[in-house]
Amino acid sequence: MPIDLRSDTITVPTPAMRQAMASAEVGDDVFGDDPTVLKLEARVAELLGKEASLFTVSGTMANQLALRSHTESGDEILVDANAHIYYYETGGPAALAGVMCRCLPGVRGIFTAADVEAALRPADQHFPPTKLVCIENTHNRGGGSIWPLETLREVAEVSRRHGLRMHLDGARLWNASIATGIAERDYAAHFDSVSVCFSKGLGAPVGSALCGSREFIQRARRFRKMFGGGMRQAGIIAAGALHALEHHRARLAEDHTNARTLADGLSLLPGIELDPASVQTNLVFMRVRKLPAAALTAALEKAGVRVLALGPETIRAVTNMTVTAAEIGETITSAKRILES
Ligand SMILES: *Cc1c(COP(=O)(O)O)cnc(C)c1O
Repeated sequence: MPIDLRSDTITVPTPAMRQAMASAEVGDDVFGDDPTVLKLEARVAELLGKEASLFTVSGTMANQLALRSHTESGDEILVDANAHIYYYETGGPAALAGVMCRCLPGVRGIFTAADVEAALRPADQHFPPTKLVCIENTHNRGGGSIWPLETLREVAEVSRRHGLRMHLDGARLWNASIATGIAERDYAAHFDSVSVCFSKGLGAPVGSALCGSREFIQRARRFRKMFGGGMRQAGIIAAGALHALEHHRARLAEDHTNARTLADGLSLLPGIELDPASVQTNLVFMRVRKLPAAALTAALEKAGVRVLALGPETIRAVTNMTVTAAEIGETITSAKRILES
C-alpha cells in the first residue's frame, strides 16, 4: 500500500464505521423521516451552537447553498482570493447564486477588518450591494492556517456594523479546534452560517453539513432540493458521519503531530523550501527548487509515497488517518534519498 499524503479525503471507512452504517436506521429524508439524518443534524447544530443544520453531499454544496440562501443575484460577496469557495468550486458563486466575488488579499488566507473596510462601497446605484463575508478556517491554500480568534472577531465586528452577513467555510474547522483548544462553537458564534465536512480528516465516506438559524436552514433546504441534493435513505451515510464525529475528532491531533514531524524532516533536505513553523494543522506545503514539483512527485510515487503537485514548484502533503508516524519517517527517508542523489 502506498503512503497516501495527497489529501485527507482519501480516508476510507473503518470496520467500526462500516458496522454503524450497516445497522443504521433509515427513512425517506425528503419526508423528514430518516432518524439517523435527523440525529446527525441535531448533533452538528449542537456542536456548532446553531439552531439547525442540514446534511449535504459535499462541502461545495454546503458552501454554495449558503451563498444562494444569503444573497440574491447581482449581490457581491467578499472572499479571500485563495478561498475554496472562489478558487475550487467551479464558478459556483456566479452560476448558482449569481453573485460577484470581490477578492480580498489575505495572507495565508487570512485578511483583516481593514481589508473588509477598504472593500466597502457607498450605497449608490452604480454598485452591487455587498451582502456576505466568507472566511475559511483552517485555510486550505493558506497551508492549513488557523484564523486567530481576535482577527476573526474584528472582521465580524466590522462586517456587522456594515450590515454584512458572515459565512464560515469550516471544512477543516475540526482541525482548528483540536489545534487551538478553541471550541467549534466559539468560532461559529461569529457567523450566520457555517459549513463543516465529515469526509476529510474525520474519515467518513460522504458528507458535509451547513448550520445556521432555523429560518436560514429552512431556506437552504429548499435550495438543496432545487440543486438535486435531496436524498432519501441517507441515514446509511449519515451514520458514517455520526461515527466520525464521535470517534475521530480527537485523533486529528495525531495528524497534526505527523505533519509537524514531516515538515521538520523535509525542511532540512536540499532543494526544499519549507518553514516548519508555518505548519499549524495537517497540511504541509513546500516549494521545490532542485527539480520540477511534478518530477519529485513522480519519483516519490515510485518510492511508494503519494503527494500532490499543486503548481510547477509547489507540493502539498496532507497527513491523515491512513498514515502512521513510522510512515512519516519512511516518507522523509525516501525524499532524502531522491533529493540527495
Ligand atoms: C474540501 C473543501 C471543501 C469541500 O469540498 P468537497 O470536495 O466539495 O466536499 C470546502 N472548503 C474547503 C476549505 C475544503 O478544503
